[in-house]
Amino acid sequence: MLVIEAVQLKHYGEISALVDKPVIRYQKVSKSFGDLKVLREIDLDIAAGEIVAVIGSSGSGKTTLARMLMTLEQPTSGVIIVDGEPLWHKEVNGELVPADEKHIRRVRSKIGMVFQQFNLFPHMTILRNITEAPVHVLGIPRAEAEKRAVDMLNKVGLGDKLNVYPSQLSGGQQQRVAIARALVMRPKVMLFDEVTSALDPELVGEVLEVLKEIAAEGETTMLLITHEMDFARDVADRIIFIDKGRIVEQGPPKVILGNPRNPRTREFLSRFR
Ligand code: ADP
Repeated sequence: MLVIEAVQLKHYGEISALVDKPVIRYQKVSKSFGDLKVLREIDLDIAAGEIVAVIGSSGSGKTTLARMLMTLEQPTSGVIIVDGEPLWHKEVNGELVPADEKHIRRVRSKIGMVFQQFNLFPHMTILRNITEAPVHVLGIPRAEAEKRAVDMLNKVGLGDKLNVYPSQLSGGQQQRVAIARALVMRPKVMLFDEVTSALDPELVGEVLEVLKEIAAEGETTMLLITHEMDFARDVADRIIFIDKGRIVEQGPPKVILGNPRNPRTREFLSRFR
């Protein structure tokens, strides 16, 4: 780790460490699609157990920020470090070089993600949906995986739905299954990208409630992309406002939502009043 930091300092200049031991560190991370600069030199540290909400207009780069952490997009430049290890890079003789697929997959497995679309396997029962990855990716014995799955389903309030199929559940229930499916892998970090956006309004509350409970347990580091400002105020330790690919303001919910300094943050938040 020491060597990595030295290399990064050499290549990427000063590290602006916001927290002592970040579980996630974005360091001068930029992303372009062709000529379109979507993220510009993002520096972001997330501490273990921290709950960070990312807000910003549509198209500001929030999803791309998350997708890079899930390795669904590759940064154009900069380094992402997960739990002390570079995600897209490997350290060889003190230099950071592009990592191979095996390294990327291993580091990525420390992260769990829930998207807008729940993407459950339609032909599998709920129990099976949740146990597939623990059994086939982690190599956990099926009986143990089922025990974990039942615990998780109880946690999201669906302990009685083990043997039904996704089509028999409401959207809100399916999303709770998707959350249980990600949590059962015991990731270091959970990423939630607008998990309530595809739901009918009356189903949003139950999903946010589950997220609040997970947050309150304090065991999971969470990066939440959300348009639900009240929810962000309730659960987040820190809110980050992204505008045109840059973090323009961040701080405790009270400050960012109650008394933002940046005119762009103010303008954005005025749409929610
Ligand atoms: P947000 O989540 O804040 O709405 P996104 O990260 O989804 O923003 O998108 C940021 C910008 O990047 C948008 O202009 C979007 O059209 C563009 N973009 C995202 N993904 C791609 C892609 N794969 N190819 C080209 N442009 C993309």
